[in-house]
Amino acid sequence: PSHHGWDGNGAAVVPTPMPKRLDGKVAIVTGGARGIGEAIVRLFVKHGARVVIADIDDAAGEALAAALGPQVSFVRCDVSVEDDVRRAVDLATSRHGGRLDVYCNNAGVLGRQTRAAKSILSFDAGEFDRVLRVNALGAALGMKHAARAMAPRGAGSIVSVASVAGVLGGLGPHAYTASKHAIVGLTKNAACELGAHGVRVNCVSPFGVATPMLINAWRQGHDGAADDDADIDITVPSDQEVEKMEEVVRGLATLKGATLRPRDIAEAVLFLASDESRYISGHNLVVDGGVTTSRNLIG
Ligand code: NAD
Repeated sequence: PSHHGWDGNGAAVVPTPMPKRLDGKVAIVTGGARGIGEAIVRLFVKHGARVVIADIDDAAGEALAAALGPQVSFVRCDVSVEDDVRRAVDLATSRHGGRLDVYCNNAGVLGRQTRAAKSILSFDAGEFDRVLRVNALGAALGMKHAARAMAPRGAGSIVSVASVAGVLGGLGPHAYTASKHAIVGLTKNAACELGAHGVRVNCVSPFGVATPMLINAWRQGHDGAADDDADIDITVPSDQEVEKMEEVVRGLATLKGATLRPRDIAEAVLFLASDESRYISGHNLVVDGGVTTSRNLIG
């Protein structure tokens, strides 16, 4: 039967059920309580995975796990703290018969968006260190402890969420850009080392997705708060803000007619997590509607 909804004669056919691409697999998704991570968790579950959400937001993480059913659980985990990461992996493997098939390094922070924080002339060393610890060290620790669980079984897929700021300059604060380039580099290095153990390591680089992270950054840039050095207080964005943000992103993408959603990032992560990508390792899959290959971002 056709997968396109039409048979050879042009008549509509009943679509075949979607195959479950992570059936029986065990996955950890860091930063899975909301935003892109939440979309990854939901899609993984839909494809038959048992998922552990590892996040610092207990309330949101526990609520999402409860809503998705017994195949999903939550563990409090700050990815920049090695003991937390080790504990999350131990918990996932002990809950699920010693196996870990997929580890998704999605947790990340953008860092302060003030003019001073964003300039190489005045950035704060402490803030730089904080962003690098969560985004870069957090991803490296995830690779370390995931690989320790996966290598003895000779299989596994580690997928990190980097960013187009891990490929191009000028798209985020220096610490964020440095941390995302670090994830792309770590992915290549770890892929070289772990290939011998059957463990694949890849990353996905999104362009702007209208999540709390991006909308709060945008709010700071547009409501005059860019000079205020107060810490970022991330609140749930309104539907209107999401729509406006999506419009801005649509305007920059070369690909027209589609809107970049968290689900689009999750689909790319799913591909790299599943056996369908079994011969792909060390790759950075950019999901950006053509932005990084166009001149649209240049002034
Ligand atoms: P978000 O802020 O909406 O969600 C991030 C999640 O990570 C939250 O649940 C938060 O509690 C969790 N988190 C933060 N620090 C953590 C820590 N130390 N340990 C564990 N969990 C932690 O952000 P998002 O937009 O969904 O971003 C997800 C990933 O995608 C990030 O790595 C981000 O850099 C990347 N990304 C986002 C965009 C975008 O436009 N939204 C673009 C490119 C890349």
